[in-house]
This record gives sequence, structure tokens and C-alpha cells, in this order.
Amino acid sequence: MSNKTRERKVVLEVNNLGIYYETPKGDVRAVDGVSFQLFEGETLGFVGESGCGKSTTAMGILQLVTPPGRIVKGEVRLEGDDLLKMSEDTLRQRRWEKLALIPQGSMNSLNPTMKISSQIQDVIETHRGKQGKEAVQQRILNLFQMVGLPSRIYNMYPHELSGGMKQRVCIAMAIALNPNVVIADESTSALDVVVQRVVAQTILKVKKEMGVSMIMIGHDMGLMAQMVDRVAIMYAGQIVEISEVKALFKSPAHPYSKILIDSVPSLTERETMRVTEGITHDPRNPPSGCIFRLRCPFASNECAQKKPQHQMVRPGQSVACHLYQPQSDGSFIDVRETT
Ligand code: SF4
Repeated sequence: MSNKTRERKVVLEVNNLGIYYETPKGDVRAVDGVSFQLFEGETLGFVGESGCGKSTTAMGILQLVTPPGRIVKGEVRLEGDDLLKMSEDTLRQRRWEKLALIPQGSMNSLNPTMKISSQIQDVIETHRGKQGKEAVQQRILNLFQMVGLPSRIYNMYPHELSGGMKQRVCIAMAIALNPNVVIADESTSALDVVVQRVVAQTILKVKKEMGVSMIMIGHDMGLMAQMVDRVAIMYAGQIVEISEVKALFKSPAHPYSKILIDSVPSLTERETMRVTEGITHDPRNPPSGCIFRLRCPFASNECAQKKPQHQMVRPGQSVACHLYQPQSDGSFIDVRETT
């Protein structure tokens, strides 16, 4: 961990989070031992292929996992307090006030029978009590301005808005109570490329103006590169690398991170697109040792016998992989460079 990150205040800390889904043939380990810290004012991206546990991690943080899913272990500390140990009433207060979600699909998140303004008013008054009509109207119009929405949508219904506008309404709702942490769960994925960029810029603007800490979940490595400070790479329910974004793109440490970055198409280089060989294991029956070993080109006997632990192998880069061996001076060598 760099000195820069070590000195910063931790606003959210997740320790050994485990979320399993019950199936007739055994538990699916959707999230298995996820640990990370989110620092004040930073944006941490979560990337990985579909089903790797990114969104389930977000639902776990928000305590919104529904059956057959269940949280089986871990801690989620928001400003020191463990959300997993809170009563439902206290949790309800913390959501929106301290911890808010910009959901994946704005289409399904907004109530089609309520005007946009009433939905935002609902969030504000549920937490802050009845507000004066003018005060609440002014707050909603300010929120519209922050996310680039015109005031004319105040009395409109969701179906009258475009996809990008609806997504910005969700951003306005998420920041309505000035939360400390916002989780953006694939909030640009369902939009076309141009609108995606506008919404992404809106999120960045809001984050900068409010100084909020943010978790951004997605699978677009290009978008992540422009929007986040650090990236957590997830594979099959585990974080395999968590690195500062520049270091990750310059020199990914984990073999899976390298494959993900190499799969980003280049506009200048004409190369055959690289894909990860093999298929993901049965999530009810994960392999021994390293979670990635069945697809890793560098897998060794040690990888089958021992689960790799996270180590800060380079400044700003923490990786779980046996390729990096600690030296007596505290540095790490990549064993591929010694053979
Ligand atoms: Fe590959 Fe072994 Fe590293 Fe896992 S621990 S990523 S199998 S080299």
C-alpha cells in the first residue's frame, strides 16, 4: 500500500465477506472472503466477468441480499460500525443517509406511477421528516441542476424520460441526503455509448462536487480507466488484485488482470483479440488452492495446494498469486523472471 493511501481515512471496510446462494446441489459461493477498504473521497472500481460477484458484493454491503442468497460470514464496517450487526431500523436509516445506491437498471428502479419529484421527495421526507413545500422543491431543483436535468421534468413520470435521464434521476435520488458512500452498480451498462459517457461524466461531476467516496461496479475496463482511483479485480467471488488504476493498466500483476486488460480492443493495434482459455469452475465446487488455477497459464503444484494470500507486491498493487515471492529486504520477485 502506498504512503498516500495509508494516511487516508477509511470510510468503509469490508472484511472476509461471504455470500452464498443455496441450491439443491449445494451452496454457490457467489462472494467468498472479500476484503477491502474504501478511502475518503476515492473511487474504487470493481471489475470482472459476469457472475464474478461484483454486484452481489454491493448487495451484501447494502444488506440487500435476498433468499436463496445469504450472508454467511464477514464484516461491513461503515465509519467503524458493523452493518451486519445492525437492526433493520438502524440499517434503513443508514441507507440513503450514509450509504446510497445508483442501481443497475433505472427503468426498474423508479416507480412508474409516481412523478419524478414525488419519488425524490419521498426519499428526503422518509429520512428527514416532513419538509416545507418550497424547501423541498428547491432541494429537488438543485439536485436536478447537479445532475444536468431540466426543471421541466419535475412533474413528469418516468415513462416520459429517456434512459439517460432516468439514470440521472437515480443519481439525484442517491445523493439527495448527501451520503458519505455511493455505490454505482453498472449504472451505465444499459445505455448506448454516447449516453453512457454523459451519465459517467455526471457521476464524476457529482463525486467531485460532493467529495463522496464511491464504489463503481462495471465491466468496461476503458471506462474504469478514466473514472476510478483504484480497481479491484474479481474472479469467481474473490478479489485477486486490488491496485491503483495507473499501476494496474501499466503493469497488471495477477495473470487474470493481465488477460482482462489485454482483452480491451485497441484502436491503433490490429491484433487478434485475446480471450481467457477454459471455463469457470462449478461455483458449488471451487478448486483447491488458487481460485484461478484451472484457467491460469502459470499454475504450479503450489497453486493447487495453497490458497495465495494478498501481498503488496509493488507500490499500490496488492495481489493474491504465488508468482510473487517475498525477499528478505521486503521486496517481491516475480518467479517468471528468474527461470
Ligand atoms: Fe496462477 Fe498460481 Fe497465481 Fe493462481 S496462484 S494466478 S494459479 S500462478
